[in-house]
Formats: sequence, structure tokens, C-alpha cells
Amino acid sequence: MNRPNDETLGKLLRKNKRLTRDLTRIETVFNAIRSAIIVSDSNGEIQFANNYARSVLGIGEKVSSIYKLLSGMEDAVMEVAENDSVVLREFEITYPEPKVLSAQIIPFNFGEGANTYALILNDITQERRSAEERIENEKIASVLNLASGVAHELGNPLNSINIHLQLIRRRLAKFADKIDPQVLEAISDSVGICTSEVDRLDGIIENFLKALRPMRPNLAESDPIKPLAETLKVLHEEFVNLKISVDVDSENQLPSILADENLLKQLYFNILKNAMESMSQGGSIKICARSDDNFVKVSIADSGCGMSDEELSRMFEPYFTTKPDGHGLGMMIINAIVRAHDGNIDIQSKEGDGTVITVSIPRSEPAVKMLS
Ligand code: ADP
Ligand code: MG
Repeated sequence: MNRPNDETLGKLLRKNKRLTRDLTRIETVFNAIRSAIIVSDSNGEIQFANNYARSVLGIGEKVSSIYKLLSGMEDAVMEVAENDSVVLREFEITYPEPKVLSAQIIPFNFGEGANTYALILNDITQERRSAEERIENEKIASVLNLASGVAHELGNPLNSINIHLQLIRRRLAKFADKIDPQVLEAISDSVGICTSEVDRLDGIIENFLKALRPMRPNLAESDPIKPLAETLKVLHEEFVNLKISVDVDSENQLPSILADENLLKQLYFNILKNAMESMSQGGSIKICARSDDNFVKVSIADSGCGMSDEELSRMFEPYFTTKPDGHGLGMMIINAIVRAHDGNIDIQSKEGDGTVITVSIPRSEPAVKMLS
């Protein structure tokens, strides 16, 4: 075998240096890109993964199969092989963090027999979430529109009934001396009942419209417990009648929150009503208020009937109710109020055991951490 002469050796070394430099450049660029780039063979073995791919997919030193990381990837690779063309897919991962990833799987064959695939993944979790939220908001908005339209329409016939009840009362008074006093009293009683029922209906509609009005919270620095205490007072009689004990355990000196107290009262009212309605034979409601660096958290635990998984997943749907005379709008209102405060809500429930609803509202001033 001929030994390469110095000139050839020099050329080879220079070429090698150039290639190494190019490779380093390409790797630097790949590692700077905010897309996950992975090269694997048809057995799913990872041959290259840039830094972003390693962090998004939690690829450690050991994991070498992309099929283990992305379920459905094997089918996608088969499809790429069959059609010899780029395939687009979406993958959902739960580890290391739940994410939705959009993927392009690109075949490239170096003519070495085994096929190789480049996989480019982009994190679309945020877009997905905001799209879902938008659809949810639109759905809620259209139901609200419809409901408030119907409620509004009910106002007209009610007005007319009210006017006619007044006319009946006036005419009765006019002919009072011509009617048997007993009959007069019976008719007056009936008219009275009708009037008070019309007033009640009016009130229901007014509250309903109030609840459904687009929320423009009037935020001010507030005590998180005051609206809760006021709501508990309003419901006190009902709790006693239903043999429900109420227990409040609040951290001393809870920090203030930025809140609309009237909306918070509506929020607690709806949660407490649901808790109350989940117990047919008495029980207990335990309220616990705590704060951490960013939030004030109020959890309301009832010993009621709890919810099945299906009920739990549907409870925020407008008009979803399991009660014969429920309207299924309470949870939607609760959700809207929590959102209007930039807060969040967590629900734990077990059928037969009860439900814990925890509402977290941001503190008006996050805690200042002391430097140690
Ligand atoms: P409604 O109270 O009119 O049924 P909501 O929107 O307030 O409407 O609640 C929807 C459904 O969620 C209820 O019908 C019930 O099935 C379920 N739910 C809500 N809160 C509770 C609770 N504390 N315990 C058990 N089920 C609950
Ligand atoms: Mg309710």
C-alpha cells in the first residue's frame, strides 16, 4: 500500500479540520434552535438530538429509542417509509412536562440500506391551550347571550301580568261592597299570592341577568375572608335547618387580595349552595383559608355525595346539572369569577365521600422573600 505523501496528508488534515469546524458550527446552530431536532434510524434508535430535544423530551444518557418517548412514532415512521414523503403529526407527552408537540418526520436515505429519519418538533402547547380557551369562552359567550336574551324577554309578559294584577285589585276595591266578603277575601289572597310570585320571578330574572352580565370586576384591595363571612351569614338559617355544621379555619392575618367583593360573595354563595345541595341528610362543611407567597387559597370541603369522574369532567359545562331543579350555570359563574380575578380553581371529589373546592386568588402584593 502506498503511503500518502506529505502533500496528500496535509490536504487530508486541512479537509478534516474544515469538516470538524463545519460540524461544530452546525451543532452550535442546531443547539441554539428552539425546535427539537432528532435523527433516528428505522428501529427508533436516536443518533442525534440537539439540546432542546434533550430538554423537551427529557432524553438522558441512557434512553436511545424515540419510540419509547413518543407513542405513535413507530406508525408515523412506517407511514413515512411507505410513502417516502414527509409526514406531519402531533404528539402529546406527559414527561418531563405535559406538552403538545407538532412534528415533521422527514426521511433521508443515504443509500446505505437502513433508512434514517429527521424529526423536527415544535412546542405548540401554548397555542393549543389558548385555542381551547378561546373556544370555551366563545361557547360560554353564546350560551350567555341566549340565556340573557330569554331572561330579558320574560320581563315583558311579567310586566303585563303585574299591571293586570293591579287592575284586578283596583276593580275589586271598587266593587267590594257588592261581593260576598268571604269571596272577596279569597280573591284578594289569590291576587296577593300572584303579586308576590311575580315579584319573586322578577327577582330571579334580575339575579340571573346580573350573574350572566359580562364580568367587569371592580377590583380593590380586599380582605379575602370578609365576603365569605358575609355569605355564611346569609346562608346561616339554611345550614341550621339542614343540620349542616360549618367550620372555618383561617390563618391569622391573611394577606389582602385584589378583588371585587360582590363577585366574591357570588362565588362563595354558589360554592356553598352546591355543597349544601350535595347533602340530603345533614353533614359538614369545613372551610380552610391559607396563603402562600403568591396566593390566598380558600378550600371548601363538604361531606356530601361527591361526583363520579364523568360528572367531575362535565361540571363546568353550561347547563350541566344532576339536580331535578338545577340550572347548571353555577359552576360556569364560579369559573368566570375566578378567571376575572386571575385566579384558579381546583376540585377534588370522590363519589360518596364529598368534594373539596379550592379557589386561589393572587395576593395584591406577593410576599417579599427575606434574603438569608
Ligand atoms: P346546579 O347546582 O344548578 O346543578 P352547578 O353549575 O352549580 O349547577 O353545578 C353543576 C353540577 O356539578 C351539579 O349539578 C352537581 O352534579 C355538580 N356539583 C357541583 N358542586 C358539587 C358538590 N359540592 N358536590 C357534588 N356535586 C357537585
Ligand atoms: Mg349550583
